[in-house]
Amino acid sequence: MRQPENVLLQEWTGPYGGVPTFDKMDLSLLKPAFEEAMADNLEEIDKIANNPDDPTFENTIAEMERAGAMLDRLYTYYGIWSSNRSSPEFREIQKELAPVLSAHSSKIIQNEKLFQRVKAVWQASQENPLEPAEQRTVQLTYESFAMQGADLDEASKKRYAEINQELSKLYTSFSNNILADEEGYVVFFSPEQTGGLPASYINSSAKAAADRGKEGMHAVTNTRSSMDPFLKYSDERALREQVWKNYYSRGDNGDEHDNNQNIIDILKLRRERVAILGYDNYAEWRLQNRMAKTPENAMAMMEAVWPAAIARVSEEVAEMQKIADKDGISIEPWDYRYYAEKVRKAKYDLNSDEVKQYLQLDKLTEAMFFVAGELFNFKFTPVPAGSVPVFHEDVQVFEVADKDSGKFIGLWYLDAYARKGKRSGAWATMYRSYSTFDGEKTVLASNNSNFVKPAPGDPLLVSWDDATTFFHEFGHALHFYSSNVKYPTLGGGVRDYTEFQSQLLERWLSTDEVINNYLVHYESGEPMPDELIAKIKAASTFNQGFATTEYLASALMDMYYHLADPADLDPDQFEKETLAELKMPKELVMRHRSPHFGHVFSGEGYATAYYGYMWADVLTADAAEAFREAPDGFYDKAMAEKLVQYLFAPRNSIDPAEAYRLFRGRDANIEALMRDRGFPVGE
Ligand SMILES: [Zn+2]
Repeated sequence: MRQPENVLLQEWTGPYGGVPTFDKMDLSLLKPAFEEAMADNLEEIDKIANNPDDPTFENTIAEMERAGAMLDRLYTYYGIWSSNRSSPEFREIQKELAPVLSAHSSKIIQNEKLFQRVKAVWQASQENPLEPAEQRTVQLTYESFAMQGADLDEASKKRYAEINQELSKLYTSFSNNILADEEGYVVFFSPEQTGGLPASYINSSAKAAADRGKEGMHAVTNTRSSMDPFLKYSDERALREQVWKNYYSRGDNGDEHDNNQNIIDILKLRRERVAILGYDNYAEWRLQNRMAKTPENAMAMMEAVWPAAIARVSEEVAEMQKIADKDGISIEPWDYRYYAEKVRKAKYDLNSDEVKQYLQLDKLTEAMFFVAGELFNFKFTPVPAGSVPVFHEDVQVFEVADKDSGKFIGLWYLDAYARKGKRSGAWATMYRSYSTFDGEKTVLASNNSNFVKPAPGDPLLVSWDDATTFFHEFGHALHFYSSNVKYPTLGGGVRDYTEFQSQLLERWLSTDEVINNYLVHYESGEPMPDELIAKIKAASTFNQGFATTEYLASALMDMYYHLADPADLDPDQFEKETLAELKMPKELVMRHRSPHFGHVFSGEGYATAYYGYMWADVLTADAAEAFREAPDGFYDKAMAEKLVQYLFAPRNSIDPAEAYRLFRGRDANIEALMRDRGFPVGE
């Protein structure tokens, strides 16, 4: 086959089933590469759409699975340069490309001839079902087209496109209004008013004030990272109240940045758009291909946890009130974090520096390899130096193979350290996914984090939270390597399901096998003491009333908004009335109040999907209990086999709800989650 001249488009060659040539990346190659790859992709699609033969699975769906390979390879480079190696020069290119790339995918979805062929294959499969892998691939492909309006007549299609245009403007306006209110409100305070604040906060707030021309003062800006610690530590109650009010009034100030009308407009347009597709409400449309399937299922899960969460809030408030009484204060929302911190210090004071001395990044990496070996039968070995190109000298590459047969499974790229141009946080990504329909493709996956690189020879010590996240992201990677799917579409993720596998893997961090062998003191080599482990575990249920209630209030409102008729809806009033009916405790508010609930109104990613965090938590807690109850606990071989077979390997090739039932013998119930959060479990 002829190789394209642009190196970013070329087939991956070399060892390990071919690897990306990161060493040949040059930003000037990106734009021409995208032009060529998109043109090539459209040509492939046109060929499928205009095939004179009757549509079949082979000549339509399988060809679609094959199409876009060149574009996919290019996206690997693009993704890395946007997340790991960004620069002003790259961002310019990105700004130019973003609309072009989104127009490209719309072009494919809107290709009428293509859709008619997909629909024909789907209809035939409804009468004469295909093999399971083929049947599900057709189903998922057809659904994704139909859900985006491919099956509408011309007039409806036109209106559908108009609605999307209007919505995208409203989303931008919604998030710009939040931004304006985050930038527009600052609380300044004097050096005499820094009582209770940690030194690091005092320093950064002095800088924030100086940046705003108030040298010698301090400033709390109107963002979560500035507000949260201030409310937790500041002794100045009047300031706390002001900071709290500014933060929770974002988008709700009755001025030109007020978002209430935007909410109404967005809800009306969303409802109109799904009505064109034949759905009663947005939630029903959105959840059809999620694990929860219906808004009722998602609501039932949340409503089952809610009473225990608000009951715990009253216990927390009662405990805090005892301390607040001494200050002659009755707990208000701006006091919650402050008195919770006082209770935490008294009851569970954990010295995070002490914990860190047992958490070395190298040892944690070894621990993850050990867990992967025990559960998945994987063996990780560093590749010979220089044998695989990397996008930065700090990236380490490991070969993943089956422990017994030695069969090659994939490569693991670890980019552990922070650097300029790398986005914050931690994440997992895949450069090449598993599939077999066109010959077996092995997996190239990566984990990325932002640890500060130590001096050579020094251990890298991390916090318990960071260690948990490190395991979490590795869980995503294991989910990639375990895949046994035939078609790429079946390897996709399901929003309320894909965080489950990674959350579950976090649980192995605190198993005895890991603690005793890998969580060892960086100097003495002694394993982490039992008392310290016990303290970490006890602290994990602390303040769960607050955390669960503020989260659930937002998740429930997200769902109520999309089930309600938006015709005469007044968001401020709707929020107030709905929360009153739920008996929302007066001492706290929704984590994201409606006028600044960006997850839901700045776009569609999390609209009627905010429940998904807890949905995955329910599965995680329930699956972890299955291991805890097994004869050999978290290292039980029979359980591990089921874990791989049903929860990891199938990815989206079987319905997640069915996969879970195969693993557990029943649906997940919420009791394990209740126990995890320290809530009472009813009989
Ligand atoms: Zn995750």
